[in-house]
Amino acid sequence: MAVSNPSIDNVFNDQNIYANLQALKNCSIKDRIKRINKIASYINEPKNVGKITSALSKDLGKSEQEVTLSEIYPLLLTIKTVTKNLKRWSQDEYLPTPLTMIGLTSSIKYEPKGHVLIIGPWNYPFMLAINPLIYAIAAGNAVIVKPSEIAANTSSLVKEMISEIFPTNEVTVIEGGVEETTHLLTKKFNHIYFTGSPNVGKVIMEASAKHLCSVTLELGGKSPVIVDETTNIKKTATKIAWAKTLNCGQTCIAPDYILVKKEVEKQFTEQYKKAINQLLDPNNKGINNSEFFGNIINTKNYDRLIELLEDANAKGAHVSDYSLANRDNKFIPPVVVTKVNNNMSIMEEEIFGPIIPIIPFENINEVITQINNLPKPLALYIMSKKRKTINFLINNTSAGNTMVNELMMNVAHPDLPFGGVNNSGIGKSNGRYSFINFSNERGLMKRKWGTHKFIYPPFNKTIYKLLKIIARV
Ligand code: NAD
Repeated sequence: MAVSNPSIDNVFNDQNIYANLQALKNCSIKDRIKRINKIASYINEPKNVGKITSALSKDLGKSEQEVTLSEIYPLLLTIKTVTKNLKRWSQDEYLPTPLTMIGLTSSIKYEPKGHVLIIGPWNYPFMLAINPLIYAIAAGNAVIVKPSEIAANTSSLVKEMISEIFPTNEVTVIEGGVEETTHLLTKKFNHIYFTGSPNVGKVIMEASAKHLCSVTLELGGKSPVIVDETTNIKKTATKIAWAKTLNCGQTCIAPDYILVKKEVEKQFTEQYKKAINQLLDPNNKGINNSEFFGNIINTKNYDRLIELLEDANAKGAHVSDYSLANRDNKFIPPVVVTKVNNNMSIMEEEIFGPIIPIIPFENINEVITQINNLPKPLALYIMSKKRKTINFLINNTSAGNTMVNELMMNVAHPDLPFGGVNNSGIGKSNGRYSFINFSNERGLMKRKWGTHKFIYPPFNKTIYKLLKIIARV
């Protein structure tokens, strides 16, 4: 049962006034772009870059370079894509009308859904709160943003930024955790855009069902990487080491586990460990002193990851040395786990940290069984030079996204749909897909001339015979 929260109620009610939603709906494309550009101006201001970097460094120990690469740069790219394409995306789209409907014209009108709620996660807490907001504004909605309370410094910065650049009836940030989100979920929004875990995704979907509110669920899961003997092991190990340690492994599309051809398992494991050192500790100062490797978000997640390692250890896995792990600093070094089996918790839940299970396979069918025994992943990566293997893996599995011989870069493609499938997500984002998430595609038909008298009784037998012929498959 949600407790009452007058401040949330007031913000919701202020935004949810017919005249306000109408004004935003009728806001010209030029004005929408102006509003979006306010975000760009804020982000581009050196003083604000300092604030963003400092908040993310406090929350996640991110380096300045990582903040630029994974939190600021993607937002600027989004703004570029949206401002360049918004006019085209939002224009009425005319479709050919079937001959049987002669005299009518058909089009799609993109209207805003109206009042939307964006709920963000903690792992890219700035980017994943602001990125959907840009699209929600582009589509002409009033927006409430609820950033993750776990990345507390970033959450308050997002609040400060939004209250500086937008009136509350257009965009407001509500800070808080489960209690505040639960209260927000009782409200009759027109769309909820949620980024987070599959478990909370179910809570969101259940709450939205009460109002038949549409949802986009950007979730997570166990994303596998398949490495076969034809790939360049050294290059592959480096790519995986980068993807697994970016943001300390706390990335929704990070490789979760590796399925490696048995004959190259040893070579791959060695190269992976080497690559970690080359990327993060090139001067041998100790990985715990690396400026390019962050920390675990909080002690709750630190404890969860240590429990995964202890569970694997107790069930017979070989766990590489993690004696540098330090609860006070929320630091866990990159860990490799071998001799893994499916009864270990590490193979049952999304890891979301710098730990990588490596599982050998002899036959490609084992890979299919392993992947299909788990919920459909958000990402599936194939590292192979064999076209037959690549096609076999694609054709016999399902995933939100797949990359071949590369990792994670697909998320930055402005026109490629990004998102999960079932347990890993519902709905696709990026570019036009995100614009459509926040828009109602209103089908519109207009009579230009004539009437379709034959659909009214009394029916004309000859015309019906003709229609039957036309409709025959
Ligand atoms: P989370 O589900 O715990 O929290 C996400 C949001 O939901 C937060 O704002 C939180 O306050 C709120 N929340 C938490 N519990 C709630 C409850 N019981 N009722 C209502 N609201 C609640 O997720 P997280 O830990 O912040 O993020 C990690 C997860 O997000 C991982 O599974 C990761 O894979 C996924 N993720 C997915 C994407 C994507 O684009 N698909 C991106 C980033 C993260």
